[in-house]
Amino acid sequence: MQVGQSPQFKMFLWKTPTCSAILTCEFWVLSAAMAYTVLARKYRSQTFDDVIGQDPIAKTLRNAIKTGKVAHAYLFAGTRGVGKTTMARVLAKSLNCLAVGAPTTQPCCKCDSCVAISIGEDIDVIEIDGATNRGVDNVRELRENAIFRPARARFKIYIIDEVHMLTTEAFNALLKILEEPPSHVKFIFATTEPNKVIPTIQSRCQRFDFRNISPAKIAEQLKFVLGQEKIQYQEDLILPLAKMATGSMRDALSLLDRLISTGIEPLTAELLQEFLGQPNSEKIYNLIGQIGDSDAAGTLAAAEDLISTGLSEVQIADALIDFMRDIMVIKSAPGESDFLLLTAEQRKRTGDLAEKFDTAALIYNITALERLRWALKNSDTPRALLEATLLRFALAQHFLNVDELMSQLKGGATAAVKKKEPTSLKAKAGSQPPVTSHEPPDAGDRKPDTSKEQPPKSPVASEEQAKTQPSTGQSEISSQRKNEIVGDPAVKMVLLGLNATISSIEENPSD
Ligand SMILES: [Zn+2]
Repeated sequence: MQVGQSPQFKMFLWKTPTCSAILTCEFWVLSAAMAYTVLARKYRSQTFDDVIGQDPIAKTLRNAIKTGKVAHAYLFAGTRGVGKTTMARVLAKSLNCLAVGAPTTQPCCKCDSCVAISIGEDIDVIEIDGATNRGVDNVRELRENAIFRPARARFKIYIIDEVHMLTTEAFNALLKILEEPPSHVKFIFATTEPNKVIPTIQSRCQRFDFRNISPAKIAEQLKFVLGQEKIQYQEDLILPLAKMATGSMRDALSLLDRLISTGIEPLTAELLQEFLGQPNSEKIYNLIGQIGDSDAAGTLAAAEDLISTGLSEVQIADALIDFMRDIMVIKSAPGESDFLLLTAEQRKRTGDLAEKFDTAALIYNITALERLRWALKNSDTPRALLEATLLRFALAQHFLNVDELMSQLKGGATAAVKKKEPTSLKAKAGSQPPVTSHEPPDAGDRKPDTSKEQPPKSPVASEEQAKTQPSTGQSEISSQRKNEIVGDPAVKMVLLGLNATISSIEENPSD
């Protein structure tokens, strides 16, 4: 939080111009900053009823309490910020609430036990960070303490976060107490990497896999929080912000914290772009439009427009994947509104862009962009890589003859390219006759049984052509030459664009 930026403090500073008053006021500002509770903590769910996005788990745990079948140990698995610790605390409160005489599905949230558990400071509910207490000595200490009965509540509950970080020795020490736990002890393990928790521990726990929270649920909670905090906002802020959180409620509220700390109201989508590096949606729509129009110069200009705003190539690729996915969904399932989280205006824009693409091209573009993301992270020339891929999309109909292109690139060497593509595409590619590359795409020389789906922008037809069989009589080239060709950045780029690998390379006898 930036000191002095919230409106009420600005006013206070303005009203007190003298030196001593400013000192006092700084003290106030400082204490206000210290007292600020981040939204993720302030709006942490307190009962099973208000845990967001994990209804099946909440329901199962509620039933276990009702029927008295609470396990000795639970393993909560899921990515960060999806509510594992929150659920662990709710379960602990339900087991230990002092307002009632037995475990309850409706903890009071007011008794000493509930209040202390809510802030992670209860005497009987011990929260341990597995990342910093990972050694065997830490677990031995835990075992020694576990035999003592709880101080005031029914159970002694150990919540071990990031449990996968424990050493093997520590896991083995933990196993001993898990095999025969005292009846007053419960364990709740939380982990983002359940595969690293040894099987002998897993088999002694009841495991729950926490789902990523849907953008729709996150959006709902963001609106609720903004309402509670009495912060003005524009509607078009909510969905992009919810999507940015990628399934984590904690991340969503942290992003909102950052926006609020700018002190600017109302909160808008523009702020998201300015302060959180979210790409300007108008510029992304423009870029996709240029690709759809097969306008090479326009595509490069639109890419430059995005890069000049300070976005990284990876951020641009991410945004393109997101937007192209929306177009693909609208194209494939126009009536299914539940698949898409778009405002009416965005839906119209996306629908208009969908006219410019065919589904196969969109599928190809999305997979190529996903591969591009990884390549960009290891590239010294990410911009060139991004631009080449975008041009590849825009000029898809020109990429018809791969072996000719390869031979031009490497002065006579012909590569047989083996296509890797989704099964669904293979089936479709099989139904299409190969397009002869030496003729323009619209030469009209197609076979009469040509399927109606003949998308000029589809890379499928051209990829089919890429399955060139090496002709007989050609000799294998030296491995050094082969390495030269395979290592050539231009060849790499073509392969990346085609989502293909080289199966063999042979020298062209004509050279
Ligand atoms: Zn209580």
